[in-house]
Amino acid sequence: MIIPQTDLRASYLAHKTAIDAAVSQVLESGWYILGEQVSAFEAEFASYIGVSDAVGVANGTDALTLALWACGIGGGDLVFTTANTAVATVAAIELAGAMPVLVDIDETYHTLDPNHLIHLLESQPLNGRLRAVIPVHLFGQMADMPAILDIARRYNLYVIEDCAQAHGAALNGRRAGSWGDIAAFSFYPTKNLGALGDGGAVLTNDVELAHKVRMLRQYGWRDRYISQISGTNSRLDEMQAAILRVKLNYLDNENKHRAVLAAIYDSLLGKEANITVPACRPDGQHVYHQYVVQVQQRDKLQDYLNEQGIRTGIHYPVPIHQQPAYQGRRGCDTDLRRTEKAAEEILSLPMFPYLSEEQAVVVAETIQAWLKNHF
Ligand SMILES: *Cc1c(COP(=O)(O)O)cnc(C)c1O
Repeated sequence: MIIPQTDLRASYLAHKTAIDAAVSQVLESGWYILGEQVSAFEAEFASYIGVSDAVGVANGTDALTLALWACGIGGGDLVFTTANTAVATVAAIELAGAMPVLVDIDETYHTLDPNHLIHLLESQPLNGRLRAVIPVHLFGQMADMPAILDIARRYNLYVIEDCAQAHGAALNGRRAGSWGDIAAFSFYPTKNLGALGDGGAVLTNDVELAHKVRMLRQYGWRDRYISQISGTNSRLDEMQAAILRVKLNYLDNENKHRAVLAAIYDSLLGKEANITVPACRPDGQHVYHQYVVQVQQRDKLQDYLNEQGIRTGIHYPVPIHQQPAYQGRRGCDTDLRRTEKAAEEILSLPMFPYLSEEQAVVVAETIQAWLKNHF
Protein backbone atom coordinates (compact mmCIF):
# COMPACT_ATOMS: atom_id res chain seq x y z
CA MET A 1 0.00 0.00 0.00
CA ILE A 2 1.43 3.31 -1.14
CA ILE A 3 0.60 6.49 0.76
CA PRO A 4 0.94 9.31 -1.77
CA GLN A 5 2.05 12.84 -0.87
CA THR A 6 -1.02 14.18 -2.64
CA ASP A 7 -3.82 12.58 -4.66
CA LEU A 8 -5.57 14.72 -7.25
CA ARG A 9 -7.76 11.92 -8.56
CA ALA A 10 -9.20 11.37 -5.07
CA SER A 11 -10.25 15.04 -4.98
CA TYR A 12 -12.01 14.64 -8.32
CA LEU A 13 -13.75 11.38 -7.36
CA ALA A 14 -14.99 12.90 -4.09
CA HIS A 15 -17.09 15.38 -6.08
CA LYS A 16 -17.37 13.48 -9.36
CA THR A 17 -21.14 13.72 -9.83
CA ALA A 18 -21.26 17.48 -9.28
CA ILE A 19 -18.13 18.14 -11.34
CA ASP A 20 -19.29 16.00 -14.24
CA ALA A 21 -22.64 17.79 -14.25
CA ALA A 22 -20.97 21.21 -14.14
CA VAL A 23 -18.63 20.34 -17.01
CA SER A 24 -21.43 18.92 -19.08
CA GLN A 25 -23.49 22.08 -18.52
CA VAL A 26 -20.63 24.20 -19.86
CA LEU A 27 -20.14 21.91 -22.87
CA GLU A 28 -23.83 22.18 -23.72
CA SER A 29 -23.92 25.96 -23.23
CA GLY A 30 -21.82 26.75 -26.29
CA TRP A 31 -19.92 29.46 -24.33
CA TYR A 32 -16.41 28.53 -23.22
CA ILE A 33 -14.38 31.55 -22.18
CA LEU A 34 -15.28 34.41 -19.77
CA GLY A 35 -18.99 33.78 -19.40
CA GLU A 36 -21.61 33.18 -16.72
CA GLN A 37 -19.56 30.59 -14.86
CA VAL A 38 -16.54 32.87 -14.57
CA SER A 39 -18.66 35.84 -13.41
CA ALA A 40 -20.47 33.69 -10.85
CA PHE A 41 -17.24 32.19 -9.58
CA GLU A 42 -15.64 35.64 -9.32
CA ALA A 43 -18.54 36.89 -7.19
CA GLU A 44 -18.60 33.79 -4.98
CA PHE A 45 -14.85 33.72 -4.43
CA ALA A 46 -14.63 37.47 -3.70
CA SER A 47 -17.35 37.05 -1.11
CA TYR A 48 -15.63 33.99 0.40
CA ILE A 49 -12.36 35.90 0.84
CA GLY A 50 -14.10 39.10 1.93
CA VAL A 51 -13.22 41.57 -0.83
CA SER A 52 -15.27 43.47 -3.41
CA ASP A 53 -13.67 42.13 -6.58
CA ALA A 54 -12.18 38.96 -8.02
CA VAL A 55 -10.93 38.71 -11.58
CA GLY A 56 -10.37 35.26 -13.07
CA VAL A 57 -7.14 34.83 -15.03
CA ALA A 58 -5.21 31.98 -16.64
CA ASN A 59 -2.94 30.95 -13.74
CA GLY A 60 -1.31 32.13 -10.53
CA THR A 61 1.82 33.47 -12.20
CA ASP A 62 -0.30 35.69 -14.45
CA ALA A 63 -2.35 36.77 -11.44
CA LEU A 64 0.84 38.15 -9.86
CA THR A 65 2.08 39.73 -13.09
CA LEU A 66 -1.26 41.40 -13.83
CA ALA A 67 -1.49 42.63 -10.23
CA LEU A 68 1.93 44.26 -10.64
CA TRP A 69 0.96 45.80 -13.99
CA ALA A 70 -2.29 47.11 -12.56
CA CYS A 71 -0.29 48.88 -9.83
CA GLY A 72 1.83 50.47 -12.55
CA ILE A 73 4.92 48.47 -11.60
CA GLY A 74 7.36 47.53 -14.34
CA GLY A 75 10.56 48.66 -15.99
CA GLY A 76 13.38 48.61 -13.46
CA ASP A 77 11.13 48.88 -10.39
CA LEU A 78 12.15 46.93 -7.31
CA VAL A 79 9.81 44.39 -5.76
CA PHE A 80 10.63 42.64 -2.50
CA THR A 81 9.64 39.04 -1.94
CA THR A 82 10.80 36.03 0.01
CA ALA A 83 13.51 33.68 -1.24
CA ASN A 84 11.59 30.72 0.15
CA THR A 85 8.79 30.49 -2.40
CA ALA A 86 7.71 28.83 -5.60
CA VAL A 87 9.82 30.14 -8.46
CA ALA A 88 6.58 31.50 -9.96
CA THR A 89 6.60 34.46 -7.55
CA VAL A 90 9.95 35.65 -8.84
CA ALA A 91 9.17 34.74 -12.46
CA ALA A 92 6.06 36.94 -12.26
CA ILE A 93 8.06 39.92 -11.00
CA GLU A 94 10.50 39.61 -13.90
CA LEU A 95 7.67 39.07 -16.41
CA ALA A 96 6.26 42.41 -15.28
CA GLY A 97 9.64 43.95 -16.10
CA ALA A 98 10.50 44.59 -12.47
CA MET A 99 13.45 43.33 -10.44
CA PRO A 100 13.01 40.98 -7.49
CA VAL A 101 14.86 41.73 -4.26
CA LEU A 102 14.93 38.61 -2.11
CA VAL A 103 14.21 38.81 1.61
CA ASP A 104 15.11 36.06 4.08
CA ILE A 105 12.54 34.12 6.10
CA ASP A 106 12.00 34.22 9.84
CA GLU A 107 13.18 31.19 11.76
CA THR A 108 9.88 30.20 13.31
CA TYR A 109 7.23 30.48 10.61
CA HIS A 110 9.43 30.51 7.50
CA THR A 111 7.59 33.44 5.94
CA LEU A 112 9.04 36.81 4.87
CA ASP A 113 10.97 38.28 7.79
CA PRO A 114 9.86 41.89 8.40
CA ASN A 115 13.12 42.66 10.19
CA HIS A 116 15.20 41.58 7.23
CA LEU A 117 12.93 43.62 4.95
CA ILE A 118 13.60 46.74 7.06
CA HIS A 119 17.30 45.93 7.05
CA LEU A 120 17.32 45.78 3.25
CA LEU A 121 15.28 48.97 2.92
CA GLU A 122 17.58 50.88 5.26
CA SER A 123 21.03 49.57 4.55
CA GLN A 124 21.26 48.79 0.87
CA PRO A 125 22.05 51.31 -1.77
CA LEU A 126 19.24 49.94 -3.91
CA ASN A 127 19.22 51.40 -7.37
CA GLY A 128 15.69 51.62 -8.63
CA ARG A 129 12.30 52.71 -7.41
CA LEU A 130 11.09 50.74 -4.39
CA ARG A 131 7.53 49.91 -5.37
CA ALA A 132 6.09 46.80 -3.78
CA VAL A 133 6.45 43.85 -1.46
CA ILE A 134 4.97 40.44 -2.20
CA PRO A 135 4.55 38.45 1.02
CA VAL A 136 3.95 34.76 0.34
CA HIS A 137 1.52 32.95 2.63
CA LEU A 138 3.60 29.82 2.69
CA PHE A 139 2.32 26.24 3.07
CA GLY A 140 -1.10 27.51 4.16
CA GLN A 141 0.03 29.96 6.81
CA MET A 142 -0.12 33.73 6.50
CA ALA A 143 2.94 35.95 6.60
CA ASP A 144 3.24 38.57 9.36
CA MET A 145 0.85 40.98 7.64
CA PRO A 146 0.50 43.59 10.41
CA ALA A 147 4.28 44.13 10.47
CA ILE A 148 4.62 44.03 6.67
CA LEU A 149 1.74 46.49 6.14
CA ASP A 150 3.29 48.82 8.67
CA ILE A 151 6.63 48.83 6.83
CA ALA A 152 4.90 49.17 3.47
CA ARG A 153 3.04 52.25 4.66
CA ARG A 154 6.26 53.85 5.85
CA TYR A 155 8.06 53.22 2.57
CA ASN A 156 5.06 53.77 0.34
CA LEU A 157 5.12 50.24 -1.09
CA TYR A 158 2.21 48.37 -2.64
CA VAL A 159 1.45 45.11 -0.83
CA ILE A 160 0.63 42.29 -3.22
CA GLU A 161 -0.28 39.06 -1.41
CA ASP A 162 0.77 35.77 -2.96
CA CYS A 163 -2.11 33.56 -1.80
CA ALA A 164 -1.40 30.56 -4.04
CA GLN A 165 -0.98 28.32 -0.99
CA ALA A 166 -3.48 29.96 1.34
CA HIS A 167 -7.09 29.60 0.17
CA GLY A 168 -9.09 30.10 3.35
CA ALA A 169 -6.15 30.88 5.65
CA ALA A 170 -6.68 33.79 8.05
CA LEU A 171 -4.98 36.00 10.58
CA ASN A 172 -7.01 37.66 13.36
CA GLY A 173 -10.08 36.30 11.61
CA ARG A 174 -9.32 38.08 8.32
CA ARG A 175 -8.65 35.94 5.29
CA ALA A 176 -5.52 35.90 3.16
CA GLY A 177 -6.20 38.02 0.10
CA SER A 178 -8.05 40.75 2.00
CA TRP A 179 -5.07 42.39 3.72
CA GLY A 180 -2.97 44.02 1.03
CA ASP A 181 -3.71 46.33 -1.90
CA ILE A 182 -4.25 43.40 -4.21
CA ALA A 183 -3.82 39.63 -4.07
CA ALA A 184 -3.02 36.76 -6.42
CA PHE A 185 -4.42 33.23 -6.21
CA SER A 186 -3.54 30.12 -8.19
CA PHE A 187 -5.96 27.28 -8.82
CA TYR A 188 -3.32 24.83 -10.02
CA PRO A 189 -4.70 21.35 -9.28
CA THR A 190 -2.59 20.72 -6.16
CA LYS A 191 -3.64 23.93 -4.39
CA ASN A 192 -6.21 23.89 -1.56
CA LEU A 193 -8.75 25.17 -4.09
CA GLY A 194 -7.64 23.51 -7.29
CA ALA A 195 -9.09 23.42 -10.80
CA LEU A 196 -8.68 20.44 -13.12
CA GLY A 197 -6.31 22.44 -15.26
CA ASP A 198 -4.77 25.89 -14.88
CA GLY A 199 -6.50 28.88 -13.34
CA GLY A 200 -5.88 31.94 -11.21
CA ALA A 201 -7.50 35.08 -9.85
CA VAL A 202 -6.65 38.60 -8.77
CA LEU A 203 -8.56 39.91 -5.76
CA THR A 204 -8.83 43.44 -4.43
CA ASN A 205 -11.06 45.95 -2.69
CA ASP A 206 -9.88 48.65 -5.08
CA VAL A 207 -12.37 48.94 -7.94
CA GLU A 208 -9.89 50.86 -10.11
CA LEU A 209 -7.28 48.12 -9.81
CA ALA A 210 -9.91 45.46 -10.49
CA HIS A 211 -11.06 47.34 -13.58
CA LYS A 212 -7.48 47.53 -14.82
CA VAL A 213 -6.90 43.81 -14.34
CA ARG A 214 -10.14 43.09 -16.22
CA MET A 215 -8.84 45.08 -19.18
CA LEU A 216 -5.30 43.68 -18.96
CA ARG A 217 -6.45 40.04 -19.03
CA GLN A 218 -8.07 40.56 -22.42
CA TYR A 219 -5.84 42.64 -24.72
CA GLY A 220 -6.46 45.81 -22.72
CA TRP A 221 -9.99 45.93 -24.10
CA ARG A 222 -12.29 48.58 -22.72
CA ASP A 223 -14.98 47.41 -25.10
CA ARG A 224 -14.79 44.50 -27.48
CA TYR A 225 -12.03 45.16 -30.05
CA ILE A 226 -11.12 48.52 -28.48
CA SER A 227 -7.86 48.34 -26.54
CA GLN A 228 -7.66 51.13 -24.01
CA ILE A 229 -4.31 49.99 -22.63
CA SER A 230 -1.83 47.43 -23.85
CA GLY A 231 -2.66 44.07 -22.34
CA THR A 232 -2.36 40.35 -22.83
CA ASN A 233 -4.44 37.20 -23.02
CA SER A 234 -4.89 35.64 -19.61
CA ARG A 235 -8.43 34.40 -19.20
CA LEU A 236 -10.12 31.83 -16.98
CA ASP A 237 -12.22 29.41 -18.98
CA GLU A 238 -15.81 28.45 -18.23
CA MET A 239 -15.04 24.79 -17.59
CA GLN A 240 -12.49 25.55 -14.87
CA ALA A 241 -14.74 28.21 -13.33
CA ALA A 242 -17.65 25.73 -13.19
CA ILE A 243 -15.39 23.14 -11.51
CA LEU A 244 -14.06 25.74 -9.06
CA ARG A 245 -17.62 26.72 -8.10
CA VAL A 246 -18.32 23.10 -7.15
CA LYS A 247 -15.08 22.77 -5.22
CA LEU A 248 -15.41 26.11 -3.41
CA ASN A 249 -18.41 24.60 -1.57
CA TYR A 250 -16.13 22.00 -0.01
CA LEU A 251 -13.06 24.15 0.65
CA ASP A 252 -13.78 24.82 4.33
CA ASN A 253 -14.48 21.16 5.06
CA GLU A 254 -11.39 20.06 3.18
CA ASN A 255 -9.28 22.61 5.06
CA LYS A 256 -10.78 21.32 8.32
CA HIS A 257 -9.73 17.79 7.45
CA ARG A 258 -6.21 19.01 6.64
CA ALA A 259 -6.13 20.54 10.15
CA VAL A 260 -7.24 17.22 11.68
CA LEU A 261 -4.39 15.44 9.88
CA ALA A 262 -1.97 18.14 11.03
CA ALA A 263 -3.15 17.68 14.63
CA ILE A 264 -2.38 13.96 14.35
CA TYR A 265 1.11 14.69 13.04
CA ASP A 266 1.57 17.33 15.78
CA SER A 267 0.52 15.00 18.57
CA LEU A 268 2.75 12.11 17.48
CA LEU A 269 5.79 14.07 16.29
CA GLY A 270 5.60 17.29 18.31
CA LYS A 271 7.31 15.80 21.36
CA GLU A 272 10.06 14.01 19.45
CA ALA A 273 13.45 15.59 20.12
CA ASN A 274 14.97 15.36 16.65
CA ILE A 275 12.22 16.66 14.44
CA THR A 276 10.55 20.07 14.33
CA VAL A 277 6.87 20.30 13.45
CA PRO A 278 5.46 23.46 11.82
CA ALA A 279 4.82 26.38 14.17
CA CYS A 280 1.41 28.04 13.94
CA ARG A 281 0.82 31.72 14.53
CA PRO A 282 -1.32 31.90 17.68
CA ASP A 283 -3.72 34.37 16.06
CA GLY A 284 -3.79 32.60 12.71
CA GLN A 285 -5.74 29.92 10.91
CA HIS A 286 -3.37 27.59 9.09
CA VAL A 287 -4.87 25.67 6.14
CA TYR A 288 -1.98 23.22 5.73
CA HIS A 289 -1.38 23.40 2.02
CA GLN A 290 1.70 21.46 3.08
CA TYR A 291 2.74 19.97 6.41
CA VAL A 292 6.47 20.64 6.49
CA VAL A 293 8.74 19.21 9.18
CA GLN A 294 12.42 19.94 9.70
CA VAL A 295 14.86 17.15 10.39
CA GLN A 296 18.59 16.53 10.13
CA GLN A 297 19.56 13.81 7.64
CA ARG A 298 16.38 14.68 5.80
CA ASP A 299 17.37 12.77 2.66
CA LYS A 300 17.88 9.58 4.69
CA LEU A 301 14.44 9.92 6.23
CA GLN A 302 12.91 10.54 2.83
CA ASP A 303 14.58 7.42 1.40
CA TYR A 304 13.42 5.35 4.36
CA LEU A 305 9.83 6.54 4.00
CA ASN A 306 9.98 5.82 0.30
CA GLU A 307 11.03 2.23 1.02
CA GLN A 308 8.04 1.95 3.37
CA GLY A 309 5.72 3.16 0.59
CA ILE A 310 5.29 6.68 1.98
CA ARG A 311 5.79 9.49 -0.51
CA THR A 312 6.99 12.92 0.60
CA GLY A 313 8.02 16.15 -1.10
CA ILE A 314 10.53 18.97 -0.62
CA HIS A 315 9.22 22.52 -0.93
CA TYR A 316 11.64 23.81 -2.03
CA PRO A 317 14.91 21.92 -2.53
CA VAL A 318 16.84 24.83 -4.09
CA PRO A 319 16.22 28.42 -2.93
CA ILE A 320 15.53 30.89 -5.74
CA HIS A 321 18.90 32.66 -5.53
CA GLN A 322 20.71 29.34 -6.00
CA GLN A 323 18.71 28.28 -9.05
CA PRO A 324 20.68 28.38 -12.30
CA ALA A 325 18.37 31.01 -13.77
CA TYR A 326 18.80 33.49 -10.93
CA GLN A 327 22.34 32.95 -9.68
CA GLY A 328 24.33 36.14 -9.46
CA ARG A 329 21.30 38.23 -10.30
CA ARG A 330 21.24 41.65 -8.65
CA GLY A 331 18.57 41.56 -5.97
CA CYS A 332 19.14 37.84 -5.51
CA ASP A 333 22.49 38.42 -3.82
CA THR A 334 21.46 39.28 -0.27
CA ASP A 335 22.29 37.18 2.77
CA LEU A 336 19.65 34.45 2.86
CA ARG A 337 21.07 32.13 5.50
CA ARG A 338 17.83 30.98 7.07
CA THR A 339 16.30 30.14 3.69
CA GLU A 340 19.39 28.11 2.81
CA LYS A 341 19.35 26.23 6.10
CA ALA A 342 15.65 25.40 5.78
CA ALA A 343 16.13 24.01 2.27
CA GLU A 344 18.43 21.31 3.66
CA GLU A 345 16.11 20.11 6.40
CA ILE A 346 12.52 20.47 5.21
CA LEU A 347 10.27 17.57 4.30
CA SER A 348 6.62 17.79 3.23
CA LEU A 349 4.63 14.86 4.63
CA PRO A 350 1.58 13.40 2.89
CA MET A 351 -1.18 16.03 3.10
CA PHE A 352 -4.39 16.18 1.09
CA PRO A 353 -8.07 16.22 2.01
CA TYR A 354 -8.62 12.56 1.18
CA LEU A 355 -5.74 11.19 3.24
CA SER A 356 -7.30 9.21 6.10
CA GLU A 357 -6.55 9.72 9.78
CA GLU A 358 -5.31 6.11 9.92
CA GLN A 359 -2.85 6.83 7.11
CA ALA A 360 -1.57 9.92 8.93
CA VAL A 361 -0.96 7.77 12.03
CA VAL A 362 0.98 5.24 9.92
CA VAL A 363 3.12 8.05 8.48
CA ALA A 364 3.87 9.52 11.92
CA GLU A 365 4.63 6.13 13.50
CA THR A 366 6.97 5.21 10.67
CA ILE A 367 8.85 8.46 11.25
CA GLN A 368 8.97 7.77 15.01
CA ALA A 369 10.53 4.36 14.31
CA TRP A 370 13.16 5.95 12.06
CA LEU A 371 13.99 8.64 14.64
CA LYS A 372 14.55 5.98 17.32
CA ASN A 373 17.15 4.27 15.14
CA HIS A 374 18.94 7.40 13.98
CA PHE A 375 19.41 9.67 16.98
C1 LIG B 1 1.65 27.66 -7.29
C2 LIG B 1 2.24 28.94 -6.88
C3 LIG B 1 2.29 30.04 -7.76
C4 LIG B 1 1.98 29.97 -9.22
O1 LIG B 1 0.81 29.49 -9.62
P1 LIG B 1 0.62 28.89 -11.10
O2 LIG B 1 -0.86 28.78 -11.20
O3 LIG B 1 1.32 27.57 -11.13
O4 LIG B 1 1.18 29.85 -12.07
C5 LIG B 1 2.76 31.25 -7.27
N1 LIG B 1 3.18 31.38 -6.01
C6 LIG B 1 3.18 30.35 -5.14
C7 LIG B 1 3.65 30.57 -3.74
C8 LIG B 1 2.72 29.10 -5.55
O5 LIG B 1 2.73 28.07 -4.69
